[in-house]
Amino acid sequence: MTAPVEDHREEWEGPVPVPSGANTAFWAATLEGNLLYQHCGECGTAQLYPRAVCTGCGAVDPSFESSVGDGTVYTYTVCHVPGEPGFGDRTPYVVAAVELTEGPRLLALVDCEPDAVEIGTAVEVTFWQVTDEAALPVFVPR
Ligand SMILES: [Zn+2]
Repeated sequence: MTAPVEDHREEWEGPVPVPSGANTAFWAATLEGNLLYQHCGECGTAQLYPRAVCTGCGAVDPSFESSVGDGTVYTYTVCHVPGEPGFGDRTPYVVAAVELTEGPRLLALVDCEPDAVEIGTAVEVTFWQVTDEAALPVFVPR
């Protein structure tokens, strides 16, 4: 899976990821339009965010796999008051827990009108590059 990566470095004013440790490979892949998750070879647990150990069995350094980049909205909220600095001109905006096809969930922006989202909405990933080191996974309805 390779999803589009849009350059938002000029206008992005929100928080930015700082790659380090176990998430370094995850953020590097985002620049290529590739959404990674971790899959444990010992017990089969799939997880995000990236961690140094498996949350299922404690195995060290679970391997990364490429997600197909789609999933469904597990739950969401519509933010009318910005939750972070830099989001003031984006209200109202949607933040969702997206359950990937492979199982793990991640919190992300959903780039659409708030009434276009409900629990169970099918979404696919795109990326907004916000620094030279990272692109944010941002979902859009399929
Ligand atoms: Zn495990």
